Amino acid sequence: MVDAEVMLGLTSRENFQIVSTPDSASVIVLNTCSFIEASKRESIEAILSMAEYKKGNCERLIVTGCLPQRYKADLKVSFPEVDAFVGTGQYGQILEFIAGKREEDFGFTHPKYIHSEHTPRINSQPSHRAYLKLSEGCIKNCAFCIIPKIRGTLRSRTIESLVAEAKQLVTGGVVELNLIAQDLTDYGRDLRNGSDLVALLKALAQVDGLTWMRLLYVYPDEMSDDLLDLIATEPKICKYIDMPVQHINDRMLHLMNRKVSGEQIRERIQTLRKRIPGVSIRSTVIVGYPGETEEEFNQLCGFIEESRFDHLGVFAYSHEEGTASFALPDQLDEKTKERRRNHLMRLQQQISQQVLKSRVGQMVPVLVEDVSEESEFLWKGRHQGQAPDIDGIVLLRSGQLERGKIQSVMLEQAMEYDYIGRVL
Ligand code: SF4
Repeated sequence: MVDAEVMLGLTSRENFQIVSTPDSASVIVLNTCSFIEASKRESIEAILSMAEYKKGNCERLIVTGCLPQRYKADLKVSFPEVDAFVGTGQYGQILEFIAGKREEDFGFTHPKYIHSEHTPRINSQPSHRAYLKLSEGCIKNCAFCIIPKIRGTLRSRTIESLVAEAKQLVTGGVVELNLIAQDLTDYGRDLRNGSDLVALLKALAQVDGLTWMRLLYVYPDEMSDDLLDLIATEPKICKYIDMPVQHINDRMLHLMNRKVSGEQIRERIQTLRKRIPGVSIRSTVIVGYPGETEEEFNQLCGFIEESRFDHLGVFAYSHEEGTASFALPDQLDEKTKERRRNHLMRLQQQISQQVLKSRVGQMVPVLVEDVSEESEFLWKGRHQGQAPDIDGIVLLRSGQLERGKIQSVMLEQAMEYDYIGRVL
């Protein structure tokens, strides 16, 4: 998303006009994903559909991001309609690709680039919120994950650069920053100057006008006491943690090359809840990993029941060439993986509803977002435990409200994923 926003910024600075529908565009830039089978399929379908516009106004079709980074040679053969493929480390050179200058320069084997506060960027989110990309790449090498290969090794931006970008975003009206990276807890390690997530959060907390910061993607065993204390005590940091655990069985975690045991994960969750009262936890798990037995899957279900996460993403294991787990024996069939995924999702649905109901009657700060699509008489917002785009919302019974303002709201009713609340 942020890569696409940088490409929007670079192109609009060069007097390109950004249009909202592809049929009127003379240049189409399609940013893709390819980390699991479903995202590859979606990206291919998008290329096919954008290629149709080459019969009309579109003079240049450019495909960027993870899919070309991974499959550039195959794509060049399969999609002759595409004029240029741009790797994950080349979004900063999009203008040169649009101008057709670098088509033969395909040196994108090891992506190294990350943008800075000086790179133009157009925030595509509603104007009161934005994503802030702390780093690119990953040094964890989880056995199932292709991301380190397609996005490269860790490269963190400096604290000064991130604070400067945060100030620019706040000047443009942003009050909520959602901090992203492949793994936030590794932020700063490569800089070797003492910068880490705690130092960064403290610096960002000084930015006047910034109201909320939210941490997306933290690795379970790498949250220091200092980090927990800071989340607990700094009012600008949302009491929300997105902590993918992937599994709970030790044999599975070991095969996944996760550097944490089931016991440590359980302890971490207990500690989070003890040190940060009322914290909302989102997590992610993989079902149907090679060799996962029914018993191991049942252990995972038991753990999900006991952990009562506010939000959970359940992924069926995707068999990805180039990952360490590709060569593992005992790959499970798609039917088993889907059955396990559906089972766990149904289980989590019940848990989410119970968790939602348990908060009814609480008074919480809610960030007002917009008029609801459901009715012009309702507004929508999010409390600190609801990340944009992935979690639920709070529907607000109220007249005129102001976008981007925090309101005290009584949560009056829980629906399947959302609340109805009353502005006090
Ligand atoms: S930490 Fe996340 S991005 Fe890094 S290898 Fe593991 S799953 Fe992939």
